[in-house]
Amino acid sequence: MKSVSELQAAGFAQNVTGLDAVGDKYAIGITPAVAALIDPNDPNDPMARQFVPRVEELTTTPEERDDPIGDLAHSPVEGIVHRYPDRVLLKAVHVCPVYCRFCFRREMVGPQGLGTLTPAELDAAIAYIAEHEEIWEVILTGGDPLVLSPRRLRDLMERLAPIEHVKIVRFHTRVPVVEPERVDDAMVSALRASGKTTYLAVHANHPREFTAVAKTAFARLVEGGVALVSQSVLLQGVNDDFDTLAALMRGFVENRIKPYYLHHPDLAPGTGHFRVSVERGQELVAQLRGRLSGLCQPTYVLDIPGGHGKSPLANSMAQLADQGHLVADWQGNVHQYPPKTPNSEQ
Ligand SMILES: *Cc1c(COP(=O)(O)O)cnc(C)c1O
Ligand code: SF4
Repeated sequence: MKSVSELQAAGFAQNVTGLDAVGDKYAIGITPAVAALIDPNDPNDPMARQFVPRVEELTTTPEERDDPIGDLAHSPVEGIVHRYPDRVLLKAVHVCPVYCRFCFRREMVGPQGLGTLTPAELDAAIAYIAEHEEIWEVILTGGDPLVLSPRRLRDLMERLAPIEHVKIVRFHTRVPVVEPERVDDAMVSALRASGKTTYLAVHANHPREFTAVAKTAFARLVEGGVALVSQSVLLQGVNDDFDTLAALMRGFVENRIKPYYLHHPDLAPGTGHFRVSVERGQELVAQLRGRLSGLCQPTYVLDIPGGHGKSPLANSMAQLADQGHLVADWQGNVHQYPPKTPNSEQ
């Protein structure tokens, strides 16, 4: 489903007026796998909130911006974002199988977005990577790189293969969750065709996204030799409560996906209804600590507007004291480190 009329014909957002203006402004996309997860009778359904357009998207606030994380400020050639010394983003496509309503690149993705790199642009992007020996890791994002056919992905990976200084290839994708049937053996083998260590960051925000088919896709990736990490966005009304967040992180770990990033929502236009305060985010990640296995702990990060990169937001458990540090435990009790009592007296 790619338009308001298709959505409404399928029973979503049926009595909502004014959505055409949203559809004119931002891309819409809901796959069959996602549609099956939405409860059309629940206006606050966390899956609907992520994918079904709302009129609130027409409201922008002064702090919101078209390029919230400053990709454009660090783009030396088309399709490359080189913000940190040792890694680049390679954005080969700007389309996705779904269009998340909170997307931080919503001004760039979609049918009216930046499109796919031309062959000449792709040549220039690969040449840039080959010329910059400090690039240790290439991160394929977009858009969603897994919308490419296995054949095109394989071609791309084979062009990275001879670049000696690139040791890691990482994909950021929502496909294993929203279009899991794409993850077949041909896809997995294409992802690994660079011969380099391959990581894939699975984007999921709610435990309901771990369906049986999605789990099969995760298993196929892991067993095919792809290391999995997670990324989620902290979203009001989707996962901004302890039980949902805990189930989400445990769901990742149960599927051999190591929780990696929990993103504070970016200041993308028309996403005010998703915003959670930093204090609330800090409180939630503090609650995860200790109550859940260490494997289930993501790093809570903010992408600082303007292209300054990501910084962890969690409150530090340690603070400088007169002698050494004061360190809080997971239950909130504070301890002196090193302890004041000599070892012999303990
Ligand atoms: C997020 C991001 C990366 C990857 O950062 P990690 O902390 O390594 O996951 C790299 N480049 C850009 C421009 C990014 O926005
Ligand atoms: S899959 Fe990623 S890039 Fe595509 S709409 Fe969702 S958040 Fe944006």
